[in-house]
This record gives sequence, C-alpha cells and structure tokens, in this order.
Amino acid sequence: MLMPNYDFVCKSCGNSFTELVSIKAKEDGLVKCPRCGSNDIKQVYKSMNFIRKGGECGGNCSGCHGCGA
Ligand SMILES: [Zn+2]
Repeated sequence: MLMPNYDFVCKSCGNSFTELVSIKAKEDGLVKCPRCGSNDIKQVYKSMNFIRKGGECGGNCSGCHGCGA
C-alpha cells in the first residue's frame, strides 16, 4: 500500500506540514494540523507540476499523476 508524503497547509492557523498518509485517510479527513488540531486543511503540491488551472482533483480522479495511478 502506498503511503506517500503529502504537504498540507492548515486553513485555520496557516501552519504548513507534511504528513505520511494513505489516500483513504486523506479522503476521510483524518489528516489534522499538528499545531492546532484542525482538519480544515488544504493539500498543496510543492514538488510536482502536473497541476493545471490551479486544480485540486481531490486526490481521487485516478487520472492525474498525483493520484497514484
Ligand atoms: Zn492549524
């Protein structure tokens, strides 16, 4: 099972952090900000440039490179 690192930014406190999470955990909203505990977070893509038009596919499109095809 793939457990890729994802980068996130917390919308509540602005903290940026990296978590090792499964895609399922990410979809289920199990990722929380380590600083304030909020799960109101946004995934960011630092090292990949496949994102177009500011896209956030949600990690489940199975069509983009980031969705771990
Ligand atoms: Zn936070």
